Amino acid sequence: MIKIKNERFFKSQKCVPIPGTDIEIPITEIQGAEPGPRTVITAGIHGGEYPGIAALTSLAGKLNPSFIKGSLTLVHMANPQSFWGRVPEVNPEDNKNLNREFPGEAQGTITEKTAWFLCRRVIGEADYYIDLHSGDIHEELCPHVYYGGLSCSDIRGKSRKLAETLNVPYRFCSRAEGGAYQWAAMKGIPSVLVERGGQGLCRKEDICQYEQDLERLLGAAGHLAYEQAEEVADRRQEEIKSIRYLCSRSNECWYPAAAAGQYIPQGGILGRSEDIFGKTVHIYRAEEPGIILYRNTSLALPEGKIAVALGVL
Ligand SMILES: [Zn+2]
Repeated sequence: MIKIKNERFFKSQKCVPIPGTDIEIPITEIQGAEPGPRTVITAGIHGGEYPGIAALTSLAGKLNPSFIKGSLTLVHMANPQSFWGRVPEVNPEDNKNLNREFPGEAQGTITEKTAWFLCRRVIGEADYYIDLHSGDIHEELCPHVYYGGLSCSDIRGKSRKLAETLNVPYRFCSRAEGGAYQWAAMKGIPSVLVERGGQGLCRKEDICQYEQDLERLLGAAGHLAYEQAEEVADRRQEEIKSIRYLCSRSNECWYPAAAAGQYIPQGGILGRSEDIFGKTVHIYRAEEPGIILYRNTSLALPEGKIAVALGVL
């Protein structure tokens, strides 16, 4: 399905097969009218995180190659089996979390092959890389952004600059491995992972704000051959120093006591859990004061899963 194509600039949309599988991933390629960098944007690495998928699809429809510098590769949905199966966190075929499997394996399971394909065939040659996430189907989330802390200081600085263009209140320099953005940053590609929206919802305001984020990022990367909309005057962003993940030690029923984005003082109660007969199992408290970046919303809190992710400022 080719919308615009001539010798100099074009937009093409097609489903691209992952080698060694029967899975196809929907990708828009845009070659702009003027020279410029190459940026890759992925959405739907977790198929239940909808606002990024919807925002990227909307943006892909609106972008006119005549007003673009350089080239864009937009991966609308990186994990179709998770998306169409409405399965949180993992690809149901191998039960692996794609966001933990980068750079993947060409001869591995479906998730490992997907990670390999994205790294080696899509992200690897980029000048910038942006990954769009949300709270999953069972997570409420306060908007925030991660950038790669395992890269060299130059790339870390460039990634941080990208993060600072976003209208999200918190950013975190992550040292976690396995994510595509961290792999890309370690390869010398300035990269961010954005988190906005959640709970299996696809609200208009989240999509709209995500599109504004993307326009800012494209502007910062030097892709836009036109003036951007005015900056938000009251935008503030703070750097999270560390993230405390409070996880369940058994299968528990979860009763949260605070919402995403809420400040919790030291010792403050984040929630409590019960066994299936209603006996209290555990009171979850903040060991340090912090902001709830995201929290579980489902009554079921399986063993080892995150109840609350607390950002320490
Ligand atoms: Zn995610």
